[in-house]
Amino acid sequence: MPTAMEVFQSDITTLQVDALVNAANSSLLGGGGVDGAIHRAAGPQLLAECRLLKGCEVGKAKITQAYQLPAKFVIHTVGPVWRGGNHQEAALLASCYQESLKLARRYRIKSIAFPAISCGVYGYPIDQAAVVAIQTVQLFLRSWETKLEIVYFVCFDKLVFNVYRKILGSLT
Ligand code: ADP
Repeated sequence: MPTAMEVFQSDITTLQVDALVNAANSSLLGGGGVDGAIHRAAGPQLLAECRLLKGCEVGKAKITQAYQLPAKFVIHTVGPVWRGGNHQEAALLASCYQESLKLARRYRIKSIAFPAISCGVYGYPIDQAAVVAIQTVQLFLRSWETKLEIVYFVCFDKLVFNVYRKILGSLT
């Protein structure tokens, strides 16, 4: 069975998936946006485990338990800050998706939910970020054997949702 890709509009913290991905900052000690929402919903034990990880580089990913979240794991990845597009932003963003999926593969994860990494405070243009996200996930799934049954792209707002839906729709 090929892995399905689905887009929907939701608060990622409410999802019952094996892993949800956090668009973290390199300290891994919490922040605003989706990061803040994940830490609030998971409770203080998540921050305690994150402290042990000693941060994370841009484009890399680390995994923790999910504590009070309905998910089983949180995969923390650090997206690039948008600096005009000529500073390896696309390669670094693609790497976030690849490294997260490598962890998902290693942990035999069946369902994973990604937020729109870098598209909030980090300022990555959503139309470009969504293409990177979808193409990178698609290529990974074609290249590697995984246990993944479904990959969700979770959009917090309607605008982001519409962009993803259009791009995913153009593939089928
Ligand atoms: P970054 O610093 O990587 O830009 P942000 O958290 O600021 O990360 O934003 C990334 C994306 O996550 C944005 O599109 C934002 O609207 C979205 N977002 C914020 N809160 C949530 C949430 N609870 N669930 C899903 N997506 C969210």
